[in-house]
Amino acid sequence: MRMTFLGAAGAVTGSKYLLELGSRRVLVDCGLFQGVKRLRERNWQPLPLDPRSLDAVLLTHAHIDHSGYLPVIAREGYRGPVYCTDATRRLLSIMLPDAARLQEEEAEFANRHGFSKHAPARPLYTEADARAALALLHPVAPHSDLAICAEARASYSHAGHLLGAASIRIEAQGESILFSGDLGRMRDPLMRAPDPPPAADWVVIESTYGNRLHSGVDPEAELAPPLDRALARGGVVVVPTFAVGRAQLLLHLIARLKARGAIPDAPVYLNSPMAEDATPLYQDYPDEHRLGAAELAAMSRVAHFVKSVEESKALNTRVGPMIILSASGMATGGRVLHHLKAFAPDERTLILFTGFQAAGTRGAALLAGADTIKIHGEWVPVRAQVLQLHGTSSHADYRELVAWLAGSPRVPRRVFVTHGEPAASDALRQHLRRALDAEVTVPEQGERFSTL
Ligand SMILES: [Zn+2]
Repeated sequence: MRMTFLGAAGAVTGSKYLLELGSRRVLVDCGLFQGVKRLRERNWQPLPLDPRSLDAVLLTHAHIDHSGYLPVIAREGYRGPVYCTDATRRLLSIMLPDAARLQEEEAEFANRHGFSKHAPARPLYTEADARAALALLHPVAPHSDLAICAEARASYSHAGHLLGAASIRIEAQGESILFSGDLGRMRDPLMRAPDPPPAADWVVIESTYGNRLHSGVDPEAELAPPLDRALARGGVVVVPTFAVGRAQLLLHLIARLKARGAIPDAPVYLNSPMAEDATPLYQDYPDEHRLGAAELAAMSRVAHFVKSVEESKALNTRVGPMIILSASGMATGGRVLHHLKAFAPDERTLILFTGFQAAGTRGAALLAGADTIKIHGEWVPVRAQVLQLHGTSSHADYRELVAWLAGSPRVPRRVFVTHGEPAASDALRQHLRRALDAEVTVPEQGERFSTL
């Protein structure tokens, strides 16, 4: 068995792990690089292999940094199976075409306004490429035994991070490797806890929060005071949120806070067609989350769903108090940019981040206290209050990551720490070293390791 780290090594995005099992080649995750330009440029460099030489692709979950490169390999001729859970398949049918439209819109916008350095700017892929990728998806039931090829088998288990999110164990020629995927929290208000890890010789574990703790924070208690103060001063609360997962958690928390009168009864707008499409999916996968029918109904009712671009623009002419939830979660694109442009200059505004902000994103800049941010080629002054919630993270913190791996039936021989900024990955490496008697490595981009 040989493994090459083609992404999420030294960074949180671009997850792609190439496994060579004898003459067979399997790609685990097929993610897009996001964040700083140096990373985004990697999306334009060809993979160090011909995608047509792959025997299978296995996806841990639907987030674009794990799936958003699929349209590229589909365009380049990959026609083999892409295995994922059924919930992941349903989410991808919403998310991949949207990712493609975003690529196309940004290229078109850049051309129209002439601020691209490339003339003409072209999209990384199109909606047609995304549809070609969707045609390759094969749903897999969690805990079932999947034959990837004659030499290798795989099994998916719940990772608790997002609807359909899984850890994947692959076994070939008596050797085994477990990919944690992105791991959720043990006590998330929305999602179920991750399954304990099955035994494996090698483990690849994420480290988004490898140097942070947030498992003690009650998200509802954390959210109430800043929300209450901002709405009481007549402010607009702009919540850049991932359309799937954190948007629904926020709706659930806001519904609960409103029901018990903890915040003013201000209007709530969900301005993300993708989040609107994803919300009903929670009803179809009751095993994946903790909400009952009444809570699901309350979550769906609490916000007004903004449909058209006109309605979205009209929101910017309104005054507070109101709450606007809109994608993208790191303010790297999407409709939220227009709301930030409109409301960031107002000191009554509260900009509330709900998840991890990768280096180089507008989200990271705002949290670092930037007094201006560039949106669509224009500098926008920031006078708004900017806050990050910790309890709404969809990722386990280091204590939860170590506890998860320590729950393995046997200590793995070797652990690879990926999917983190370098300081976070190194911190998790040290925590794991102390907790387990295993060799722990932080691989670099492009680095290759041979068997066991
Ligand atoms: Zn994820």
